[in-house]
Amino acid sequence: MMKTLIRCLVVIFACCTVLAFGTSRADAAVDVVASTPELASIAKYVGGSKVTVYSIAKPDQDYHLIEPRPSDVSRIAKADLVVRVGLDLDLWFDALLNAAANPKVRRGAAGYVDASRGVDRLEVPKGKVTGASGDIHIYGNPHYYYDPQNAKIIARNICEGLARVSARDRDYFEDNYKRFVDELEQHISKWQQRLKPYKGKPVVTYHRSASYFIRRFGLRYFGQLEPKPGIPPSPSHISQLIKHMKEENVKALVVESIYPKRFPDLVAREVGIKYQVVPYSVGSMGTKTYIDLIDAWVERFAKALE
Ligand SMILES: [Zn+2]
Repeated sequence: MMKTLIRCLVVIFACCTVLAFGTSRADAAVDVVASTPELASIAKYVGGSKVTVYSIAKPDQDYHLIEPRPSDVSRIAKADLVVRVGLDLDLWFDALLNAAANPKVRRGAAGYVDASRGVDRLEVPKGKVTGASGDIHIYGNPHYYYDPQNAKIIARNICEGLARVSARDRDYFEDNYKRFVDELEQHISKWQQRLKPYKGKPVVTYHRSASYFIRRFGLRYFGQLEPKPGIPPSPSHISQLIKHMKEENVKALVVESIYPKRFPDLVAREVGIKYQVVPYSVGSMGTKTYIDLIDAWVERFAKALE
């Protein structure tokens, strides 16, 4: 009797395991690894319930300077799809791809997405790039993801990548992509309205991260606290900048959340203005999604320009 019961239990257990395993295999989510939280957020919009998404860079880490950990290598080793910023912002991602040696996501494979594909690049250097040019990006300014129109291109690239690795969910991804674009469109017209009164107005930031955002909303880049991209502010550069800001009556200083406040404090005091801080990443300053991020940028830029 006891033996029969045990045998029955074993059989039931085995059946359940097979069922559970079978179900989870059939419904297994696409394992997506993104290089930054912005790409991760957009991948979540498009992938919905059919994906799990992990970001290597954490909110408020300087994306130029990420030091990948061994756990990141294991993440990529089991990923079905990787999404990177490209344009040499996340060069460290190549080291991860090499170390993980996952053929599904290597450069050029079905599971590899360079989110910058199709983006109209700004500030591509002309002529020879030397060390004196600063921490220069040879393919142009890589901070294209702060322009919400470019988020559509990013979402398109991700949607195609997801459809490549999980073809039977193509319609689902396409629907989510369309919904994301619609939602973005609604916000873009609202954002355009919010910044409309400040067309052509000059703005200073810490790093040259706002080129695409500034172009999209018709503002004007006046300068940065960094003398060159990636080179920390120097007293001589800062005093020149203060002088020029005063001469040209520049009122808007916007500082990305990852940078120290010492120089922004000094410039604001000397010029007689208040500065605004914008979230560097999805996940900083209370933002949860890509749309939150741009919403915060628009609001803070508007406040700085008021
Ligand atoms: Zn940069």
